[in-house]
Order: sequence, then structure tokens, then C-alpha cells
Amino acid sequence: MPDLEEQHPNAAGGGDFDVVVVGAGFAGMYMLHRLRGLGFSTRVLEAGNGVGGTWYWNRYPGARCDIESMQYSYQFSDELQQEWEWTERYAAQPEILRYANHVAERFDLRRDIEFDSRVRSAVYDDRSGRWTLETDSGRSGRRYSASYCVMATGCLSSPNNPRFPGMEHFEGPTYHTGQWPHEGVDFTGKRVAVIGTGSSAIQSIPIIAEQAAHLFVFQRTPNYAIPAHNAPLDPEYQRDFKARYPEFRARAKQMPTGVAFDYRDVSALEATPEERQEEYEKRWGRGGLAFLGGFKDLLFVKEANDTAAEFVRARIREKVQDPEVAELLCPTNIIGCKRLCVDIGYYETYNRPNVTLIDVSREPVEEITANGVRARGEEVAVDAIVLATGFDAMTGALLKIDIRGRGGLALAEKWNGGPRTYLGLCSAGFPNLFMITGPGSPSVLTNMIPSIEQHVDWIANCLAHLREEGFAEIEPTIEAEDAWVQHVNDVADLSLRSTCSSWYIGANVPGKPRVFMPYIGGFPAYVKKCEEVAAEGYAGFELAGARAAAE
Ligand SMILES: Cc1cc2nc3c(=O)[nH]c(=O)nc-3n(C[C@H](O)[C@H](O)[C@H](O)COP(=O)(O)OP(=O)(O)OC[C@H]3O[C@@H](n4cnc5c(N)ncnc54)[C@H](O)[C@@H]3O)c2cc1C
Repeated sequence: MPDLEEQHPNAAGGGDFDVVVVGAGFAGMYMLHRLRGLGFSTRVLEAGNGVGGTWYWNRYPGARCDIESMQYSYQFSDELQQEWEWTERYAAQPEILRYANHVAERFDLRRDIEFDSRVRSAVYDDRSGRWTLETDSGRSGRRYSASYCVMATGCLSSPNNPRFPGMEHFEGPTYHTGQWPHEGVDFTGKRVAVIGTGSSAIQSIPIIAEQAAHLFVFQRTPNYAIPAHNAPLDPEYQRDFKARYPEFRARAKQMPTGVAFDYRDVSALEATPEERQEEYEKRWGRGGLAFLGGFKDLLFVKEANDTAAEFVRARIREKVQDPEVAELLCPTNIIGCKRLCVDIGYYETYNRPNVTLIDVSREPVEEITANGVRARGEEVAVDAIVLATGFDAMTGALLKIDIRGRGGLALAEKWNGGPRTYLGLCSAGFPNLFMITGPGSPSVLTNMIPSIEQHVDWIANCLAHLREEGFAEIEPTIEAEDAWVQHVNDVADLSLRSTCSSWYIGANVPGKPRVFMPYIGGFPAYVKKCEEVAAEGYAGFELAGARAAAE
């Protein structure tokens, strides 16, 4: 049995390509498959030592998807979606990584992927119209030249590593959930601190608590979590789902989140308290993110949202035995404003005698000492620290690369007041540079794999069109970009989601501009716009090259 993560011997070192793709998660893998099919010479550069992106890096205990596995999967190949068997309602990280490796094998992707290759710069040359990318691989880095550059660098791939004073003095190990050691971590008999209570913390805390001698959770803001009711997938259910995959996939495309949920076009405020209670009970019983699909106004009208938030708070109070701890765990903000979490025994974990919740909402963690964490004037001695502090979302991975467009313009400079894109796909001043699920696209507000597939297909069709029509260059006009940015902001303003301090607006990273980054207008509206733009000969873009010169 070959090591699935082994680097393919053919993929080695530098060269000239039609397209260089950065990243080998679900986006980069499918992009490679499509470009190959169109006959473009393509090289994928990946910082990690294997495919899978998110699922390659996030190996923390409890990591799993929170969109059901039957939908959190590719649909570009019916054979693939028919042959792959998911074992659980929400697959755990090892299974999703196996799936990514299976896709790489099945479509023979590894021969065009270079692993252990972190791209540090991507520079456009005005004269040749080509991009040069440099990696930190090899002895002195490697150089690649490409007509087109596709950034498949991920929305949640750049870990947010807060610098607490004194961190360098801590004598034990510190782990970030997004960079978890491949060999795993055994916390048996250890005193462990978890800093953060977002999705990764909510997934990992119940499992770490089972191992650790004592777990201390440092909480700044409590989050809402809906029970997963995870279970092995019933083979009969899976067979039926597969038989009706086209129907489910088509229905999902009509949903704002790209997930075939049961959404109701009913106002929470027009329903009676009994009707609301019944609906919330039903959805709580079913579990998962569809909880917020019960009423159409939950994410738009504060009073409607309050009814759902209060329902969840009541459940937390039922689950957590100590009333003071329960109150600390009850969020007071808008439900769904921060990404809703899905849990397996999270709140119940606080009933364990070996778990202590430490509220750092008013006074942040003061420092990390040699022995532990100091907060609220007291030192908590621990043997290990887990940073469940999330990601520099949506722009982090892009801006870590020194990307320079026309006239040496740095993307970091252009975006210093917040990201500016046309459709989340391209940015003016950066010809022939594409982003997959970039800021300004629905991305993290949707089921990401269908969103990725839609972007990849759009980019692939665009490159085929340019080649067929004799164009060499595509770049959005500043007017189209400005109008799109305005639209992204306008629709964000209508939603309650833009009103709180979340990673959607960059609030978790000190100094990051506060801009609501994903497009909240819904997957169907977004897809329609992308399709119209293409149908109108790439409206809002300037196409240039041999044919443009001849006209
Ligand atoms: C814990 C967790 C759970 C999630 N659960 C869900 C879920 O249930 N449903 C859902 O829809 N989404 C979920 N997501 C979002 C998830 O990121 C996407 O679903 C999807 O995996 C993104 O794929 P991607 O290829 O776009 O990006 P990634 O999977 O992030 O891949 C990007 C790749 O680019 C590489 N890269 C970045 N910068 C460079 C560079 N400079 N040079 C070379 N390589 C680089 C990275 O190493 C990485 O491998 C989750 C995210 C996390 C962190």
C-alpha cells in the first residue's frame, strides 16, 4: 500500500506553465482536474505535504464537518459521488482526508502537485504579461512562470495566533487547532488550557476533557451550538440519497446557503409562541445548522432572532447543572451572527468535575507564564495549552503572499482598507489572477464544496473562452469592482450578521480592517450574476491580447 501522502516523483521543481494554482485543498484539486481536461499545462503548489487543505491541517480531536457528509462532497463526478461511502452523518477529519486522498488517486492528481512548496510571492510582469511565483521549497526556493495564476489558498487556512505576553516562557507544549501534530496528542493525566470557544473549541473540548486530568477553558465570548445528533449513516438512507442525488443537488443550488435544508418562508414574529416553540423543538431534535431555517426573518429582524436565541439559552440552562456556569455559557448576542456551531456533548462537558470554565470577557488573559495561564489576577497551572483561536479568515492566506500586480501594486496595499474584488474572483490591477471563494463571494456562508465547484467551473470556462477567442488577458474594470463592493456592503447591511464582532468582519485579528467579507446575498443570486457576466462576454472585465489588438 503506497503512502497516500507521499509526494509524487514527477512533480518537481519550477518551470513555465499555462496556469499555476496555489493550494491543494478541495479547490486546488478540482481546479487542476478541470484545467487538465481543457489541455492547459498546470502546476499546483501546496505548502503541506499532502492534499486536503483544511482536512490535512485541522487534525485536532473532534474535528469534523458541520454540513452533512452527503452534501459536503464533490458533485462534479457522479461516479465519485456514487462510489464513495460516508460512514457518519457528519464525517470526522480522518474520513474527509481519506476522501480527499481518494479523489487525488482516482483522478491521478498528484503528478502535477508539488508539496512542501509554500508560495511566498506572485509578481506580474507588465511587459511579458506573465506571473512569476516563488516558493520557499528547495535550497533557495523555486521559480514558476505562468500566464494565469489561481489562488486556491482557502478561506480558513491561515491560523490566527494571538501573541499573549510571555508565551515564549511557557515550559509545556502549545498547540493550535489548525496546525495539529500529525501524530496526535495524548492529554492523559495532563492539565490542559483551551483558549477560545469557537467551533474548533466546541468540537475538541468534549474529547480533550475525557482525556485530561483537568481542563481549563478560557472563554471570551460564548457561542451558540446546536446538537449534531451525529450517528452512523444508515445504509438505506445513503442508498436513497444517492439514488436521488441530482434532485438534492439541484434543490441545494436554490438555497441561500447551497445546502438542501428545509427552509420555511414564514416569519417568526407572525407565528404564535406555541408554533415557534414547536418549530424550534423539531429542529433542535433533528440537529445541525438547519436550526436557523425555521423562520425567514431570524437573520434580519432582531426581535425574531431573540426568540430563537432564547430557545437555545433555555436548552443550555437545562443541560448545564451549575446555574452560574450555565449563565456564562449563554450567549447574549444575535444567534447566527457569528458562525453557528454544531456540537457533540459540548455543554454537558461542563458538568464534569475535571472541567473549569474561566470567564475572560471583561479581563483578557494577562499573560502566559512558565507554568500556565494568568487571568483575572490568578495563575492557572497547566501542562499544555491549546489555542482554539481560529483563523485570519478570507484574506489571511492571500495577504501572506507578496502578490504584486500592474506597476508593482501590492495586493496588501490595495486591500489595506479591506478586500476589494469583482465577484470575489478577481481584483482590478491584477490581470489573470483568480481567487477561489475569495472575499466578496458567498464562500463561508455556504456549503463550501459546491461554492468551490461553481468558482472552478467559472474560471475554467473563462480561460477556455479567452483561448478560443484569442484573448490573452482578463482584468476587472475598476467601475465593475466598485459597484460589486458596494453591492456586497449594501446586502450585508440588511442582515443582522454584519452587526457583531465576528471573523466574518475580521474582528478576531487585531488591526484587521472591519469589513463584512463574504457575499451575503445568497448562493442562487450570486450564481445568476456570475452566469450573466459570462453570457455577456465577461461584462465588467476588460479582455486584452492579440484579438483585442487586431480590433
Ligand atoms: C475545522 C474546519 C471545519 C470546517 N467545516 C466545514 C463544513 O462543515 N462545511 C463547509 O462548507 N466548510 C467547512 N470548513 C471550511 C473549509 O475550509 C472548506 O469547506 C474547504 O475545505 C476549503 O477548501 P479550499 O481548497 O478552498 O481551502 P483549504 O482547504 O483551506 O486549502 C487551501 C490550501 O492552500 C494551501 N496554501 C495556502 N497558502 C499557501 C501558499 N502561500 N503556498 C502554498 N500553499 C498554500 C494550504 O496549505 C491549504 O492546503 C471548515 C473549516 C475548518 C477549518
